[in-house]
Amino acid sequence: MDFNDTPQEAAFRTKARAWLAQHVKPRDPDAIAANVLGERESAEVIQQAKDWQTLKFDEGWACLTWPKEYGGQGLGRLEAVVWGQEEARFDTPPNIYSIGHGMLGPTIMAHGSDEQKAKYLRDMARGQVVWCQLFSEPDAGSDLAGLRTSAVRDGSDWVLNGQKIWSTGAHFSDWGMIVTRSDPNAAKHAGLTYFIVDMRAKGIEIRPIKQINGGQGFNEVFFSDVRVPDANRLGGVGDGWRVAITTLMNERVAIGAGGGAGRFRDLLKLAQQARRNGRPAIEDSAVRQKLADFYIKSKGLQFTSYRTLSALSRGATPGPEGSIGKAIGAPMGQEMAHFALELQGAMGGADDGGVVPQEALWQGMYLGTPGLRIAGGTDEILKNIIAERVLRLPPEIRVDKDKPFREIPTGSVK
Ligand SMILES: Cc1cc2nc3c(=O)[nH]c(=O)nc-3n(C[C@H](O)[C@H](O)[C@H](O)COP(=O)(O)OP(=O)(O)OC[C@H]3O[C@@H](n4cnc5c(N)ncnc54)[C@H](O)[C@@H]3O)c2cc1C
Repeated sequence: MDFNDTPQEAAFRTKARAWLAQHVKPRDPDAIAANVLGERESAEVIQQAKDWQTLKFDEGWACLTWPKEYGGQGLGRLEAVVWGQEEARFDTPPNIYSIGHGMLGPTIMAHGSDEQKAKYLRDMARGQVVWCQLFSEPDAGSDLAGLRTSAVRDGSDWVLNGQKIWSTGAHFSDWGMIVTRSDPNAAKHAGLTYFIVDMRAKGIEIRPIKQINGGQGFNEVFFSDVRVPDANRLGGVGDGWRVAITTLMNERVAIGAGGGAGRFRDLLKLAQQARRNGRPAIEDSAVRQKLADFYIKSKGLQFTSYRTLSALSRGATPGPEGSIGKAIGAPMGQEMAHFALELQGAMGGADDGGVVPQEALWQGMYLGTPGLRIAGGTDEILKNIIAERVLRLPPEIRVDKDKPFREIPTGSVK
C-alpha cells in the first residue's frame, strides 16, 4: 500500500481543509485533546456537537462512507480517513456519534427494511438525534447471548422487561438498539430478537453511573413493561444474534487501536521534559528502551490498521481480525499511562490539569484505559476471537450452547 495521498486524495484533503478553516478555529498542534469518558458531556456541549454534525450534513461532509440515499456522501474509506485527519486539526466539539454512525447505522443498513432505512438513517446522519447501544446486562457482558431482558409479543407490540447496564450516552440519546430474549425455550443464541427503542418511551428509567475518573458517560437502563411496536424489530424474530454480530464487528473496527496508539508523540515530549537523577529523563537508557518498545508497537498498530483499511476500501466487511488493534492498543495505552506517571515522579499522583504536565492527560488515561480494555470485548474475549476465528485454534468448550435457555442455571438465588 502507498501511504502518500493520490492526486485525488490530495485534492480532497485541500477541499476538506479549506471548508473546515471557514467554519472552525485550528487546534493548537501542541494542545492535548481530552479523552476522559463522560467529562465533557454537558447539555451545552451536546448541543454544540449536534449543531456541528448538522452543519456537516447540510454542506456534504457527514457520514462520508454511507450511501447518498441514506444521508452520506458515497465516498471510500480512505477519504473518510483523510477527513478524520483534517478534522482532528481543528477545534471541533466532541464526537458523540461513534456508536450511532460507526455501529448502529451499518447494522440498520445490513438488516433493516426499506422503511426502517428511510425512517432512521438520514436523521442519524444529520445528528439532531443520538443513538445508544443497549446490549450488556449485569449478568451478560462477554457472554452477551446469556442476556435476560425479555420481549413478549402482545398484538402489534412487544413488551420489554429487564435491565441493561454500561449504556454509553443513554442519558442524552433519543433512540437505542436493544437485544432481548424473545424465546426462553430456544437455545441461548437462537432465542434473541433485536429492536429499535424510543428512549423516551413510558417505562424506561435511566440512571447514570459515576466513574472513577469523575465522568458520567454511561448508565443503567431499566425496562418496565415498555411497549415497542413490531415495526421496530430489526431482522427476524429469533435472529437477534446474527444482527448483534454485525453491530459488534463494526464496534471493534470503530474502536480500532484506541488506547495509546496515537499518543506516542505526547509520551516522547514528556520524556524530554521530565527529569531523572538531575538529567532529562530521555537521556536515561532504560527510558529510551521503553520508548523504543512503545514506538515499535504503535507503528505496528498503525500499519495493521492500514491493512484493515485497505481491505475495507476494497469492499471487505469487518471481520474477526478487527479485534487485533484493540487487543494490543488498549493494554498498551494503559502501560504508557503507567510509565508516564512514573516519569512524573511525585506529580504523577496529582490530577489538577492546571498544574500537572500535559494537562493531566496521562492521569486521565490511567483512569480511563482500564475501561477501554473492557468495552467492546475484553482482552480475554478478543484473544479468544483471534485464536478461534483468525488462527483457527480449537474453540472453547461451551456446554450451554444447545440447551434450551430456561434450563441454564442463573446463579441468582430466588
Ligand atoms: C467504557 C465502557 C463503555 C461501554 N459501553 C457500552 C454500551 O454502550 N453498551 C453496552 O451494551 N455495553 C457497554 N459496555 C459494556 C461492555 O460491553 C462489557 O463491560 C463487556 O462486554 C464485558 O462484560 P462484563 O463487564 O459483564 O464482564 P464479564 O463478561 O463478567 O467479564 C469479567 C472478566 O471475565 C473474563 N471472561 C469472561 N468470559 C471469559 C471467557 N470466556 N474466557 C476468558 N475470560 C473470560 C473477562 O475477560 C473479564 O476479565 C461498556 C463498557 C465500558 C467499560
